[in-house]
Formats: sequence, structure tokens, C-alpha cells
Amino acid sequence: MSRIRGKDTQPELAVRRLLHAMGFRFRLHRRDLPGTPDIVLPGRRKAIFVHGCFWHGHGCGCARLPKSRVEYWGPKIAANRARDGRKAAALRREGWSVAAVWECQLRKPAALEKRLARFLDG
Ligand SMILES: [Zn+2]
Repeated sequence: MSRIRGKDTQPELAVRRLLHAMGFRFRLHRRDLPGTPDIVLPGRRKAIFVHGCFWHGHGCGCARLPKSRVEYWGPKIAANRARDGRKAAALRREGWSVAAVWECQLRKPAALEKRLARFLDG
């Protein structure tokens, strides 16, 4: 199976393109921060995680668990969700604002752009 998770996923690249078009400058995968956030705007102290709906268990209906091998996927996805929560909490403790962008939100770029602008300017 090809590698789905990891750096520079398609949704991540799409969010980066969008932010860039909006005129924001950002850093990637800052390893010195808790959880190595995907996208960081250090001056604004904002961090963004880009989550694939399947791997991170988004309840959006666009990434339903396969019926087979639920006993395999289920715990993996639950562990990812727990880890996501810990990462965001650790960043917030250090004074960062944290947002998650979900893969499915990229289908409505105008709405996502509004949301990101609110988050980053707020
Ligand atoms: Zn989703």
C-alpha cells in the first residue's frame, strides 16, 4: 500500500497553496514545537494541522470506515484522534492557537478561505 500519511500529503499541499494565495507566509513541520504542526505562522503564534478524514476519524461521512477489518482500522484511527488532541493541547499550553483543516473542507475552498482568514487574523 502506498504511504498515505506523512509529510506533504495532497490536502496539505492544497492548504499551503490556498494560504499562499491569501498572502500568508508560513513555516512547515516545525520539529521544535509540540506535535510538529504541519503549518506554522510563528509571528501570529498560529498552528494548523491538516487532517485526512479517514485517518483522523472525521465524522463527516466522506470517509467511512471500511466494513471489513474494522478491528484493525478502528483502534488505529482512535489512536490518531487521541494523539491529535494531545498535540493541540500541548501547543495551546505554550500559547499557540491551533486549528485543524479537514480534507473534506478543501472541497469548499471559499468557505475554507473565510475560516482560515478569521483564524489567522483573529
Ligand atoms: Zn471530513
